[in-house]
Amino acid sequence: MVVVVKKNPDKTQFNNLQNWLKSLGVSIHTSEGENSIVLGLVGDTTSVDIDLIRSLEIVEDVKRIQEPYKNANRKFHPKDSVITVENVHFGNGTFNIIAGPCSVESEEQVISIAEQVKKSGATMLRGGAFKPRTSPYAFQGLGASGIEYLLKAKEATGLPIVSEIMEFSQLPLFDDVDLIQVGARNMQNFELLKELGRIKKPILLKRGLANTIQELLMSVEYIMAGGNENVILCERGIRTFENATRNTLDISIIPVLKKQTHLPIVIDPSHACGISYFVKPLAMAATAAGADGLMIEVHNDPQHALCDGAQSLTPQVFDEVAKSCFAIRPLACKY
Ligand code: PEP
Ligand code: MN
Repeated sequence: MVVVVKKNPDKTQFNNLQNWLKSLGVSIHTSEGENSIVLGLVGDTTSVDIDLIRSLEIVEDVKRIQEPYKNANRKFHPKDSVITVENVHFGNGTFNIIAGPCSVESEEQVISIAEQVKKSGATMLRGGAFKPRTSPYAFQGLGASGIEYLLKAKEATGLPIVSEIMEFSQLPLFDDVDLIQVGARNMQNFELLKELGRIKKPILLKRGLANTIQELLMSVEYIMAGGNENVILCERGIRTFENATRNTLDISIIPVLKKQTHLPIVIDPSHACGISYFVKPLAMAATAAGADGLMIEVHNDPQHALCDGAQSLTPQVFDEVAKSCFAIRPLACKY
């Protein structure tokens, strides 16, 4: 980090600044120019509050040279991480499709969808049991029985399962869930992230609706700093001024994350566009751009789905989308 101090600073303020920075464990290289004094901070600057420094009267500018995330940073871990969920591997050249309903609605529904998506090549089953709905009057999920039905579908098909946790007290219900999802709305629920850092189970962390890539990486840092390195990142579209689609899929997150982190990245085209008709092109684009996997909502009867029917594919359409993605995957961008 570099701190540019104004010319002829107040001596007491300048000393206070230097002493404070040293107390945070960094050493300071000072170079005096004609118009300013440049302080080069050497060492671990992750705990230095850049905004606080910027707000000081004697400071002209501050720049972070090194990213504030360590565990997720590719600089310290150049090789791709491989996150293993049961028999499924994410990262380092693998490609997996997670598919299933937005919400688990019944045992028969989820088993039948699981059987069909497996035939199309999906390697994991998704299904929400606890649903973060915008309206408190909307279907909130089946709760514990939703997880139970997912486990039945796993038993029937062998597909590992992923489901969303909303708060840490639900963890005992997730004992047999293979991958725990943290949804977009909880991306910055730091207490939940810290708790998930204390367990070893793989986590799928979705990007918040209005969060930057750096904020996503800082959130994953919470989980990793706690000791859980098994994390997969997920882009699910962000809110922009565009309203032709539910959200806007940020495809550029793929090359950006590939450069900045060693963690795998999965793209969720369903929540990104909100309309089933648009899922295929987005899924193909994400595949071509080198995503490590996709997560796609599939429903046996989208018109009557209790949640997100408009963006859900029928198993037949999913089959076509999966085929197209697998077909272009060998040509996908490599990093
Ligand atoms: C989901 O995947 O079921 C979900 C609610 O997604 P998001 O958190 O991205 O809205
Ligand atoms: Mn959904």
